[in-house]
Amino acid sequence: MTATRFQSFRFQGDTSGPKLIVLGAVHGNETCGTEAIHALLEELKSGVLKVKAGTLTLVPVTNPEAYDQRRRAVDRNLNRFLGPKAEPADYEDSIANALCPLLRDHDVLLDLHSFHTPGDPFALIGPKNNQECLEPFAFQERETKLALHLGAKRFLEGWMEVYENGVRQRKASKQPSSAHLLSTDYGVGTTEYMRSVGGYGVTYECGQHHDPEASKRARYAIDQTLKLLGIIEGVPIPPPKDVELLKLVDVVDRLDNGDTLVRNFNSFDRLKKGEKIGIRGNGAEVFAESDGFIVFPNPGASIYAEWYYFAVESDRSMWI
Ligand SMILES: [Zn+2]
Repeated sequence: MTATRFQSFRFQGDTSGPKLIVLGAVHGNETCGTEAIHALLEELKSGVLKVKAGTLTLVPVTNPEAYDQRRRAVDRNLNRFLGPKAEPADYEDSIANALCPLLRDHDVLLDLHSFHTPGDPFALIGPKNNQECLEPFAFQERETKLALHLGAKRFLEGWMEVYENGVRQRKASKQPSSAHLLSTDYGVGTTEYMRSVGGYGVTYECGQHHDPEASKRARYAIDQTLKLLGIIEGVPIPPPKDVELLKLVDVVDRLDNGDTLVRNFNSFDRLKKGEKIGIRGNGAEVFAESDGFIVFPNPGASIYAEWYYFAVESDRSMWI
């Protein structure tokens, strides 16, 4: 299978400026970005809206086969282990080979997603400026400013660090594990790839799948980004003041089919230190190690895959 149906639309301003790429449906069942991008495309094609500076590239459907089937993925999660593949082994590899050169050719990425369980929108941002080998970065200020303008009040950081922690814990415990959870490279999705090739980017989780508000939020986020970067005319609406930044600090794997979460958690449910989270198949209880938040709980996770993540309030400020 090849990525022949991967389509992008590029609009060029009269003057130079930032090069922005906006992605919808990286996960095929997350259609809010696609709807927002299609509406925007109509306005750009008809001339209602005009790109005045820089470059805008729109990819309404990043994973076309998964989108047609309204599935998250065809063979594997496109938003992991992302990079050009000399020998594509599956459908998502073929998409990666179309997508990665395009990302490399831009400065800024806005990646639009939605989520399964009820909850408020949130955005994932990258690390502080640093020169470590895990995820070196120099655009913290620009990326944070962009994230603040998208419309979300909640932000999440620490993805690559928690992923690396998970890899380290799994190797140390010598527990059996899925091969992909033993490689830090597997943690690389669209924004991590963008940062690795000298750009910056934000993943915006706009709301629950099929919530009509989610596509409105996606469109708001695109318009805000275009104004902030000076790509279209206008001044962005100032960010909300009451924002919170959480940091992922731990990932806990499901180790047995009997491992059960004690209730139906939603992402960002608040937990007290010592609060019971789950019971292992062997009867051992799992508790919150500090005050914090459960994130991405997956009660039906495969064995040796991520059961849930744990986040705490970050000591980093969004206002820099
Ligand atoms: Zn997604």
